[in-house]
Amino acid sequence: MKIIHKIGELKSIVKSLNKTIGLVPTMGALHLGHASLIKKSVEENDFTIVSVFVNPVQFGINEDFDKYPRTLEKDAKLCEELGADIVFAPSADEMYQDTKELTLVCPPYSAINKLCGKSRPGHFDGVATVVSKLFNISKCERAYFGQKDAQQLFIIKKMVKDLNFDVEIVPCPIVRESDGLALSSRNSYLDEKARQEGLKLSKALNYAKELWQKGIKDRQVLCDSALKIMEGLDVDYVEIVNPETFEDWVETDKNALMLVAAKIPPTNTRLIDNLEL
Ligand code: AMP
Repeated sequence: MKIIHKIGELKSIVKSLNKTIGLVPTMGALHLGHASLIKKSVEENDFTIVSVFVNPVQFGINEDFDKYPRTLEKDAKLCEELGADIVFAPSADEMYQDTKELTLVCPPYSAINKLCGKSRPGHFDGVATVVSKLFNISKCERAYFGQKDAQQLFIIKKMVKDLNFDVEIVPCPIVRESDGLALSSRNSYLDEKARQEGLKLSKALNYAKELWQKGIKDRQVLCDSALKIMEGLDVDYVEIVNPETFEDWVETDKNALMLVAAKIPPTNTRLIDNLEL
């Protein structure tokens, strides 16, 4: 397995390949959630590229870009064990010559004026832009995204359709700890006490699902019940959407996806999670 830092080098390798290429875009600090995406790509493609890039363009000014965990050596070892062929780890300068004059890919307002997009202005422009660049550089046929970032997955699928990218987007289920906490690179910011608080996200979702299964379909009751379990957290949102359209869920919709986001005091760590009800 090779670690490649330069766009030109990766482009010339993929040009010489006559293989199906799977891409797994990540920001590194890999865990078993990422591993599940990499495994699936290795199974389904002749050649797997894992990108490890903490993308400055998707972070807001007061967010954790500087302290985001960077563990390339360890990440590369895991990728090799899982059978990946290349880790693509460019520097920010390699990816962006000029972030001030950058051509951005901007998802429509309707897709970003809610949930994470609302509290992280510019975030999904940064995500759509870097993912477009990675698709163009890697010439992948398939790309693997976790359902943990449900709004991201929705936006990327829409972008691929709207801009005619020849890439199949493969959604992958959320990987959790045995107690329900969704794996996240940001969990490394949590000590044991904060981790217990972080567990309230999955507990709230599971409780709402229980109510749903008992026949309670009132969005206010479901959201309030989840909110009650999340007491003590700095809650960003608790919402229910139609998973196909990401519009607010209404009672005539067949499926409902509950999404939550909250900061865990006193760490300021922002966690997200979601569950189909
Ligand atoms: P990140 O490195 O956080 O940008 O995540 C890279 C990819 O891994 C994204 O498609 C995420 O949705 C996915 N991912 C992160 N955590 C999980 C998880 N716990 N289960 C499944 N996929 C995940």
